[in-house]
Amino acid sequence: MITKMLTQIFDPDGDLVLVLSKRFREDEQTKSTPTTPGEADAPPPADSHARTNSLFDELSSSLILNVLELGKEASPLTDVGMLVSSKHMMLASPVFKAMLRPNFREGETLRATGQATIPLPEDHLDAFVILLDIIHGRSKKIPRVVPFEMLLSLAILIDKYRLHELTRFFAEIWLDAVKEDIPTEMTRELVPWLVIAWVFGRADEFRNITRILERESQGRVYTKIYLEGRKLELPLPGPVMGRFRADLSSTHPTDKAPTDAVEKKRASAIAAMLSVVESYVDNLQKGRAGLCGMAQGTMCCEGMILGTILMSAAQCRLWPIPRAPYYLKSCNSVEELMKKMVIKSWCGIRHVTFAGDTHGVKEGIAKSVEEITSSLCGLELDDFKFEGENVVRSYVL
Ligand SMILES: [Zn+2]
Repeated sequence: MITKMLTQIFDPDGDLVLVLSKRFREDEQTKSTPTTPGEADAPPPADSHARTNSLFDELSSSLILNVLELGKEASPLTDVGMLVSSKHMMLASPVFKAMLRPNFREGETLRATGQATIPLPEDHLDAFVILLDIIHGRSKKIPRVVPFEMLLSLAILIDKYRLHELTRFFAEIWLDAVKEDIPTEMTRELVPWLVIAWVFGRADEFRNITRILERESQGRVYTKIYLEGRKLELPLPGPVMGRFRADLSSTHPTDKAPTDAVEKKRASAIAAMLSVVESYVDNLQKGRAGLCGMAQGTMCCEGMILGTILMSAAQCRLWPIPRAPYYLKSCNSVEELMKKMVIKSWCGIRHVTFAGDTHGVKEGIAKSVEEITSSLCGLELDDFKFEGENVVRSYVL
C-alpha cells in the first residue's frame, strides 16, 4: 500500500504508517516523486516553509470576523505515508498511546500483523514532519526558524497530540526567532498568536497579547482558520478567550454574560467607562452635582454641561447607554470617544472662570477612563495552567 504513495521514512524498522495529505504546489510536485520505504528518507524541500503568497488575500472585509484564511490552495490532495516507530509515537504522545492501545482497532492490528496504518487527513503535513523529526531524534533536520503559518500549524498539532513537553526546547527557539513579529495592536493574526503563546507556555507574550485583546478587541474573535484548504477550529484556551462566541448574524445582541477572561475584562471595563457618563448625567439631572457656584448656576451652567454631555454622547452613540456585550466597541475606542466629547459650561463660554472650563467635568471624565483602561494589563499564564501543563483551573475575575 505505501509503495503507491509518497513516503517519508523516520524509522527504517518502523511498524506504523501515518497517512497525511497535502495540497502540493506546482514547484513542490515537480521535485517530489513517489518512493518506496527503502529509498525514501528525503528531508522536506528546503523552501517548503517559505510562502510568498499573501496569507490573507481573500479577507479584505473587516466584516468577516471569525474565519481566518491561511494558505488556501486549489490543487488536489496527495497522500503521503510516514513510516514511523509506534514505540516512539506512544512514548512521545499520550494521544498516540491511547490510539495504539490493544483495545483499539489500530492497536489490535499492530499486535496481530506487526504493522498498522493510521490516516490523519486533517493534520498539516509539513508541520507533522517537523514533529516526527523531533519524536525520532532527527534534530539536524529540524528548522530553527519557522514562519508564522508553520508556527501556528505546529502549535495546533502540539496541542492536539499533547507534545508540549517534548517540543519545549524547539518551541523556545522558534518563538524567540520570530517574537518581534508578534503584532502590537489588534490584527487578524493576534488570536492565532495567542494560541501559539498559550501552547508554547510563553508568559510574557501571553500577557502582552491578552492586554491588546482586552483593550482593542470588539468582542468577536476568530475561532476558525483555513490551513492548506482545511477548515480548523483554533484551539483557543476557553477560559481565556473564545468560549463566548459571537453570533455574527444576530442584529439583537443578547445580555448573555461572557464566560472567558478576556471578554469579561473588556466588557466590565466598557461598562465602567459608560457608568462614568451615566453618573455625571444622573447627578446633573438631579441637581446634585454641585459644580457651579454662580447664582442660578445649577439651572444655567450645569444645565448646559448636562445638555452638551447628552448631545455629545448621543452623537458618538454612547447615549442612551449601550447594553452589553458592546459589539463593535473596544475599550480603547470608548476611551477615545469619551475624551473627545464636546462639553460646554456657561461659565466657560462667558469666561467667568476661563475659556473652555467645564468645572472639571471634561478632565474628570478623562481621568476616570484612563484609570479604567490602565487597569487592563493582560492575563497571567500561571492563572490558567499548572506548571506548563494545559490543565486549566477555574478562574474567577
Ligand atoms: Zn458655572
